Amino acid sequence: MIKLASFVQSLRTSLLLIENRMLQAAGLERQLAPALAAYGPSICLKGPCQSPGLLDGILWMAAPKKRRTIEVNRTRRRSETKLIKLKTNIEPCPECGHLKQKHILCGFCYAKVCRETSKIRNQIKEVEGGHFRAPTVETVVIYEGETANSQDKDKRIIERPRKRPSWFNV
Ligand SMILES: [Zn+2]
Repeated sequence: MIKLASFVQSLRTSLLLIENRMLQAAGLERQLAPALAAYGPSICLKGPCQSPGLLDGILWMAAPKKRRTIEVNRTRRRSETKLIKLKTNIEPCPECGHLKQKHILCGFCYAKVCRETSKIRNQIKEVEGGHFRAPTVETVVIYEGETANSQDKDKRIIERPRKRPSWFNV
């Protein structure tokens, strides 16, 4: 036992020496460097002490005691509470006929509007020719076959080369 303890002690000192050398090579001071520490059972050399057990220092995690069968697991995974609820508030969109939820905007129509407005925005950008050049007047969008009203003369007019969509109000 004493022999083993002395061997462990010499191993520890040599490890410390190697650590010091490496820290010196890296240009670090011993006090500033992070400690290279290993957690293990400490060996006491003096006095009566119990020899450390092999499993000291191991953190025990919670582990199942019995295997659960696949039937039990599937019953749990596919239980009624985990199923997707049936939706009864679905109706066709009055514009395009795609199915949608009653209280929610139709995604198809929304995408359509997004595409058109982004095209209008691009056209506005071309007219302005750069950032921070927006005039302080209102913008009017005019579609094919339409003419600007007399009250829109002072406003910025954006002409779109297509017919006015039914969903795009004047
Ligand atoms: Zn729609």
